[in-house]
Amino acid sequence: MAEFYIETNEKESGFHLVHFAGCSSLPAKDEIRYLGSIASFDSAKTEGEKIYRHVNACTECASKYASA
Ligand SMILES: [Zn+2]
Repeated sequence: MAEFYIETNEKESGFHLVHFAGCSSLPAKDEIRYLGSIASFDSAKTEGEKIYRHVNACTECASKYASA
């Protein structure tokens, strides 16, 4: 399990990015929303999609997850 956050502001692409709690690109606390303690990045994305229409993984987190 890992803790995940989603950005409350959408990127220029129109997507809200999902991050690990420990991500170095994680925005300030008032610009993110806690998703919960979730088993996988895919599940975290699914949780995010309940809140926002367009959700994507932070590329930095995704590369960490791939090597974890
Ligand atoms: Zn990230």
